[in-house]
Amino acid sequence: MALEKIPVGVSQCLLGETVRYDGGHKRSRYLTDQLNQYFDYHPVCPEVAIGLGIPRKPIRLVATDTGTRVQQNDDPSVDHTDALADYGEKMATELSHLCGYIFMQNSPSCGVFDMKRYGDNGYPKDKHGRGLYAQKLMEKLPLLPVEEAGRLNDAGLRENFITRVYAYFDWRTQVESAPTAKKLINFYSRYKYQVMAHHPPSYKAIGRLLADLKSRSIAESCDDFIQEFMYALSFQATRKGNTNALMHLRGYLKNQLDAAEKAELSDLIENYRLGYVPLVVPMTLLKHHLLKVDDAYLQSQSFWSPHPEKLGLRNI
Ligand code: SF4
Repeated sequence: MALEKIPVGVSQCLLGETVRYDGGHKRSRYLTDQLNQYFDYHPVCPEVAIGLGIPRKPIRLVATDTGTRVQQNDDPSVDHTDALADYGEKMATELSHLCGYIFMQNSPSCGVFDMKRYGDNGYPKDKHGRGLYAQKLMEKLPLLPVEEAGRLNDAGLRENFITRVYAYFDWRTQVESAPTAKKLINFYSRYKYQVMAHHPPSYKAIGRLLADLKSRSIAESCDDFIQEFMYALSFQATRKGNTNALMHLRGYLKNQLDAAEKAELSDLIENYRLGYVPLVVPMTLLKHHLLKVDDAYLQSQSFWSPHPEKLGLRNI
């Protein structure tokens, strides 16, 4: 597990800075008191950056015939769409080293999911909007793991986002800077069981891709690989997927365990599958047995610790 802090973008108001339209903030204690130990934050307030000032008139997303616009609530002629989009584009270049981004929800600049859009009549029309700054950044950096701070309160979404950030950081530091076929294979050999747990179709697709490395350039193979890999991790690992990965890993230990140990491990995996115990329970016992085996391949599996254990993300 890397000790280096991971560069992650963040909506500035989430760090407690008073940059909101009303002069307030939206501090997230989870970000400022826990994730800050692992993430090196790059705070951005796009509305302040384009010169809207603090305090400022509130703005909103408006669905028009020519697409979504960002306009001032009390005066639609004040339109910030182009300024926010241009700023998003500029920052995508400046922040291209980031390995994750945490956005503030319900913001016409930073919101990512299900943002309310208003009609010309001033009434809410649908919830198909996305903050303009977030949208531009996501278009330009499609592999970047993103999440909204509010959604990090959901244990499954939180675990998934942090898993993706760590995996992407690993990729960027270990392979992307100077890719070779060997590095690509070594990287994936550490993540096989994780991909299996998250999205079995990607497990098969990546297997096919890596079997065909010789027919294409390494740059092309890496591009296709990382797209499929990040896509796979964007699915939350299911109980079924994790159980499958646990069973495969248990298979490597069959000659090291006596009958009673095997039965105990099988019971815990089954109890996890049935939802009686969290993942950490069978995982702890598997890791304990793993210490007895001198097997670099097994020990290097990221499935054991895809993120810092102190965050307690596997108690679900
Ligand atoms: S949500 Fe985005 S634009 Fe709004 S105050 Fe926070 S950082 Fe600034």
